Amino acid sequence: MNESVKAMNKEIYLDYAATTYTRREAVEAMLPFMEQTYGNASSLHSFGMKAKKALEEARANIAGVFHALPEEIYFTSGGTESDNWAMIGTAYANRLKGRHIITSKIEHPAIMNACKRLEREGFEVTYLDVDAYGNVDVKQLEESLRADTILVSIMYANNEIGTIEPIRQIGDIVKSHSKVWFHVDAVQAAGSVPIALDELKTVDMMSFSSHKFYGPKGVGALFIRKGTRIDAFAVGGSQERSKRAGTENVPGIVGMATALALAAAEMPQESQRLAALRDHLIDRVLSQIDHVRLNGPKENRLPNNANFSIEFIEGEGLLMRMSALGVAGSTGSACSSASLEPSHVLLAIGLPHETAHGSYRLTLGKNTTKEDIDYTVDALKKVVSDLREMSPLYHKNCNVQ
Ligand code: PLP
Repeated sequence: MNESVKAMNKEIYLDYAATTYTRREAVEAMLPFMEQTYGNASSLHSFGMKAKKALEEARANIAGVFHALPEEIYFTSGGTESDNWAMIGTAYANRLKGRHIITSKIEHPAIMNACKRLEREGFEVTYLDVDAYGNVDVKQLEESLRADTILVSIMYANNEIGTIEPIRQIGDIVKSHSKVWFHVDAVQAAGSVPIALDELKTVDMMSFSSHKFYGPKGVGALFIRKGTRIDAFAVGGSQERSKRAGTENVPGIVGMATALALAAAEMPQESQRLAALRDHLIDRVLSQIDHVRLNGPKENRLPNNANFSIEFIEGEGLLMRMSALGVAGSTGSACSSASLEPSHVLLAIGLPHETAHGSYRLTLGKNTTKEDIDYTVDALKKVVSDLREMSPLYHKNCNVQ
């Protein structure tokens, strides 16, 4: 057995795509808004006014990072709500114009299940194919746009295999048809790759989630470009310009703005550091373990994402054994890892069911070191070899005695 894997009491977190820790600066920025400046941002007394000021500063700062206008940022409870709102709110507001929606086969369940719900309500959804690397079929998009198409939603970057989609090109195609709204789920991209909404003029809506870039959980935003026709998400008070009622989560919003500003400032160095570690991980795994494939492209992928399919083993077993050795990875998106269904993303890129079942995602982050990666690869070699030792399929297919 490899000596380095014997080191117990290791705890290596490689599931940053599922969530990040909340960074200290964000926690510190939030605390005063829980303990001292706890007023309701809608109240007219000094407590309320101070909270309102912090809220609007956070909105302006977040808008600044994405080159948007402050009044185009609407706070939500996270990525799922932003995605649901964009899909359902746009569909309802434009239903008299048409009932056709286009998305891709590799979207997050927050988009997929919103589409399923809209289908049950009489909308028609086209799910675009992707190629073997997860790139959306832009030709099929062009052919699918119709007079009654009201909305296209394509993710900026995929949460499972890290593929970065050609959003600019997709937006140009969408807007070559009159008045089709374009939504982008940027939950995995924000904080990892630069996003400038003044240059991405074809994008009408974009979803963000704070806990993916070291902000607190339970807070996010939907960018809604001025002039976009979308229904309110929640009705009640007049918060968020009457489009998303409910007392604002001021501490969460302040934490999100703080984390985002830091992520944007650190991005040039940090994304380079992560991409180098990711490539080291990918190179070692592909060269030192046989019958392994990298899911997603080599270039044009999120700097922190590596996703492998490991033949003749089963993902859940691998995950548990890696976890026992102190490595926290995932077998797909966190939301679906409790289910035994193979990932819809891996099936969409053309993997057979058995191969899709043996997938393992490692996503790197601020605390990841080269030592962590080397330990992880050593552990993976051992676990794969142990599991294959017990696998009749491996013995049969690889002529191992
Ligand atoms: N969209 C994508 C691409 C995601 O990766 C996630 C979370 O994993 C979501 C949406 C949902 O975000 P949240 O967890 O903030 O609801």
